[in-house]
Amino acid sequence: MPPLIEVTHPKGIYLPEADLWLDPHFGVKRAFVSHAHSDHVARHDLTFCSEITHQLMVARKTAKKSGTVVSPELREVFEWEGWELRLLPAGHIIGSAMLHLTRKTDGATLLYTGDYKLRQGLSAERCGLMQADTLIMETTFGLPKYRFPPLREVRAAMHEFVEQTLVAGAVPVLLGYSLGKAQELLRALHGLGVPVMVHPSIAQMTEVVLPHLGELPEWRLFDAARAQGHALIFPPNAARSPELRRLGRCRFAMASGWALDPSAKFRYGVDEVFPLSDHADHPELLETVQIVQPRRIYLVHGSTREFAAELRSLGHDARALGAVDQLELLF
Ligand SMILES: [Zn+2]
Repeated sequence: MPPLIEVTHPKGIYLPEADLWLDPHFGVKRAFVSHAHSDHVARHDLTFCSEITHQLMVARKTAKKSGTVVSPELREVFEWEGWELRLLPAGHIIGSAMLHLTRKTDGATLLYTGDYKLRQGLSAERCGLMQADTLIMETTFGLPKYRFPPLREVRAAMHEFVEQTLVAGAVPVLLGYSLGKAQELLRALHGLGVPVMVHPSIAQMTEVVLPHLGELPEWRLFDAARAQGHALIFPPNAARSPELRRLGRCRFAMASGWALDPSAKFRYGVDEVFPLSDHADHPELLETVQIVQPRRIYLVHGSTREFAAELRSLGHDARALGAVDQLELLF
C-alpha cells in the first residue's frame, strides 16, 4: 500500500506535497475552492474551481483581482505536475465540487468533500463520490440526532405553508441564503402555481446560474407595491427590512438543516422552520465513509470530535482536523 498523502492544518487545510490549500480563508499561492459561498474573498495566485463557481465568484466580485483560475470539466482527469486531479459534483449548491487527487508516482489517492450532500436536490448536480485512501470530509451535521426527513415531505410542507398563508390574506416569506438555498427554494415552488418575488441579491445570483437551473415558477424582482399574492424568497439577514414591514402581515419560514433543533423557530424568530439543508445528515456521513473506503479520515466543521469518536468505535482511523468553525453553525 502506498504511503498516505500528507494532510496538515497550519491555519487551514493544506497538502504540503502538492503545495495546495483547500478552501483557504486567506490569499495563498495555490488553492482549491469547492464552491462560491461566503468568504473566499482572498486573492490566490492559482485557483482550481468549477466553471460555475468561477462565474459566481466573478458575479460576487470575490474573484475580481484573482490570479489564474483553472476550471477543469467535472469528472475529467486533469494532469497537474505529479498529480491527477478530478473535480466531482458535491451536491451542496450549484457549481459545488469535491476534489479527488491521485499521486502519480504510487497511485495514493485523496478525496476532499468540501460542503456536500448525497441527497439529490433540485438545484445542484447529484454528488458523485470516488474511492480514496485519505478522506477529508465536512461533518456539519455529525451527530446521530441529525437525520433529515425525505425531501418531498419537506417540499409538501412548504407548499402548504405558502398556500395557507395566502388564503389567510398574508404574504409568505421563505428565508434562505442568497446563493444555493434560494435557488433550491425557487425550484421547489415550481408547480405550485403561485408567482414568486425575490430579494435583489437572490435575483443577481439566480441570473448567473439561470442556464443551469431547471424549471422555475413565474418569478420577478421584489416590488413591495405588488407583492400581495406572491410568495417571497429573502435572505435571512433581510427578514427585518422596512420594505417587508410595510407590506403588513407577513409570515416567515426559515429553510435550514438546523430546523431539526427544537429551539429553531425561537432562535430564528420565525413562524415556521423547514429542515431543508445543503449539507449531508448523519446517515449520509456514514454512507460516505462506506462508499469511499478510506484508510484515514480527517473531519472538518461542526461535530468533528464526536463524529471522529463514533468512526473510531466502528474501527476507522478518524481524527478531527483543526478547530471547530463556529461560524458554520449560523447557517
Ligand atoms: Zn457552503
